[in-house]
Amino acid sequence: MKSWIPIPAGSDFPIENIPFGICSFGDHISPSTRVGDTVIDLSVLADYGYFDLLEIDDLTVFYEPVLNPFMSLGKAKTNAVRLLLQDLFKIDSGDLQHNDEVKSLALFSFDAVGMKMPVFVGDYTDFYSSIEHATNVGVMFRDPANALLPNWRHLPVGYHGRSSSIVVSGTNIHRPKGQTKPNEDQPAIFGPTKQLDFELEMAFITSGETPLGSTISVEKAREYIFGLVLFNDLSARDIQKWEYVPLGPFLSKSFGSVISPWIVTLEALENFRVEGPVQEPQPMSYLKQTGPNNFDIQLEVYLKPGIASESLICRSNFKHMYWSMDQQLAHQTVAGCNINAGDLYGSGTISGPTPDSYGSMLELCWKGTKPIQMKDGSQRVFIHDHDTIIMKAFAEKDGIRIGFGSCETTILPANN
Ligand code: MN
Repeated sequence: MKSWIPIPAGSDFPIENIPFGICSFGDHISPSTRVGDTVIDLSVLADYGYFDLLEIDDLTVFYEPVLNPFMSLGKAKTNAVRLLLQDLFKIDSGDLQHNDEVKSLALFSFDAVGMKMPVFVGDYTDFYSSIEHATNVGVMFRDPANALLPNWRHLPVGYHGRSSSIVVSGTNIHRPKGQTKPNEDQPAIFGPTKQLDFELEMAFITSGETPLGSTISVEKAREYIFGLVLFNDLSARDIQKWEYVPLGPFLSKSFGSVISPWIVTLEALENFRVEGPVQEPQPMSYLKQTGPNNFDIQLEVYLKPGIASESLICRSNFKHMYWSMDQQLAHQTVAGCNINAGDLYGSGTISGPTPDSYGSMLELCWKGTKPIQMKDGSQRVFIHDHDTIIMKAFAEKDGIRIGFGSCETTILPANN
């Protein structure tokens, strides 16, 4: 597919993508999409009646400061909007291409707009679904012979996280302070974390609501998954280690988690489906699933010390996930938990099989024992103040690249 909007070579945003985000255009904030380096303000297209044919009951969804109302329309409607936009931007489509008035109001250079949180995150779950990550953590902290806990291969382990501190890429985060216990035989101490880490994750965002007491089957789960973002689940390992027994991580993961600004729809990623790992033992029937339920999405993490140039420190892939998103959502709801549009579900740290594909500093540097060499000559075992963590994700096949842009945050010194 070709577009009349210029698309630079290697862009994450060809006309096959059509992601959704929320942009600020100086005087207002609107739902938007992106083609190449051009951002399109959907509220202007709504003003001029471009969505009238779709019989959307409530066109105010295109004037809201978050995408939740848009996603609440359900996938049939939001998919129709996406396909209509794709048609408008095609090279042989004259409607918008030759309407200079609308173009002057609706089209902006990406550099001229600000990216906002695309959704209000009502609820946030973080899973733990990479077998390589769970195994590495088990080997480091428990028993190499029994690295996985007995439940791990039977259900997608997860916990309910904090949604208020999920922020959009470009938001910087202060080093958290908290309790740690560096020495077994000394009392716990209070202060800034010394073991600040990232977690390389993808997250899916749900569309539509379900009633309390209902469940979503593994077959129907994808009908409720609007799309995906990159997710950096920042973690303070020393705080985590002291606080996490018996109820799991708390303040060590609630001081800031960062998402990429464009939600890439499940439909844009359809061509990149692949089979996931073989599941042994076979999951219970409510989790049983066959076919290509994972996605081949390449993942990269760069660490940039201050103003120095960045170093690539991890290369992984979303296809390694042991539990699929469908299985995660089926499990989330099997006890009767209701879902809402805008809920966010983190995959868990995505580690691959090789040491350069581990999705956290904890694993890359193996608990501080194997420092990473940076291009500027410095070394890291955890994140320093003024380091910027940059995550990238893209799927590529047959000359088509569907990407997520980047998910970035700089770590500022601890607040006084
Ligand atoms: Mn996590």
